[in-house]
Amino acid sequence: MTLPTPNVSFEFFPPQSLEASFRLWDTLGTLAPLAPEFVSVTYGAGGTTRDLTHDAVKTIHGNYGVNVAAHLTCVDATREDTLAISDSYAQAGVTRIVALRGDPPKGASGFRPHPDGFASSVELVEALAQTGKFDIAVGAYPEPHPEAADLQACVDYLKRKVDAGATTAITQFFFETSSFLRFRDACAAAGITAQIIPGILPVNNWTRVRGFASRCGAVIPTWLDDAYAAAIRDGREQLLSTALCAELCTELLEEGVKDLHFYTLNSPDLTRDVCAALGVTPRVTLAEVA
Ligand code: FAD
Repeated sequence: MTLPTPNVSFEFFPPQSLEASFRLWDTLGTLAPLAPEFVSVTYGAGGTTRDLTHDAVKTIHGNYGVNVAAHLTCVDATREDTLAISDSYAQAGVTRIVALRGDPPKGASGFRPHPDGFASSVELVEALAQTGKFDIAVGAYPEPHPEAADLQACVDYLKRKVDAGATTAITQFFFETSSFLRFRDACAAAGITAQIIPGILPVNNWTRVRGFASRCGAVIPTWLDDAYAAAIRDGREQLLSTALCAELCTELLEEGVKDLHFYTLNSPDLTRDVCAALGVTPRVTLAEVA
């Protein structure tokens, strides 16, 4: 079976140092030629990168010829401040927002709404939708979010976000295709018609990714942990990552998925290699080669 070439999108985080800025521009220089549907820029946990996110979004929007989605969270901000940020995006021509409740700052026990802020992602989506200025994406959790009672609670909550005005959901990363398919089926059964884009994490560093997974509720199957133990021992971690990530994406495409969202962690190589394996290669115009 010949698989269709997927639409891809890439997530970056805003740089916090000069060196990190160069790394991000290098990452963009590698991945922007793959003609992504959009790229997105995260908003640091606890709202810590508010200004950096804002600057990075505007700079990418103005210089790279790609659609940019700005992440926005409810953490530690009044409604007025949050809507002022979204308004300045609209004025700059940025019309995609990834609307999230957000993670609390490091060390905090859990999410505590600002007294004058949005109390949940649903409230944020509602307010953004009311402006009529944005295409709104939200987070989704194929393996239950740590605060959710079970998978159905995540499906029900996603339904509330879609009913409030979200048009797209981007999932947390996962390592087994069956997790995504189970979630997609449950969403369909709940009447969710918004597009659900799988979030794909190419593994640059297994030890780091294990840490992310334990914090966000992503399941690590035993076979995967064993495979990385052997690959790290043999100095083949990157090779394993490319092969497994390309296989995961291929299985998703075989199941009818058309869009893939890559968590790049501002390191372009693995994402570029996986995209190449899926047939997503740099688009070179005739003017550039003639
Ligand atoms: P929500 O959907 O609001 O909540 C997650 C789950 O918790 C729900 O499915 C539901 O089961 C339960 N829940 C939450 N609130 C309620 C409620 N009031 N009533 C009942 N159940 C509830 N974090 C950042 O800080 N910055 C980012 O830039 C960022 N980008 C992300 C991008 C994506 C694609 C994803 C998937 C996550 C991202 N996160 C980011 C992490 C996210 O902020 C955390 O997972 C956060 O804990 C939940 O935010 P949310 O809006 O996705 O979840």
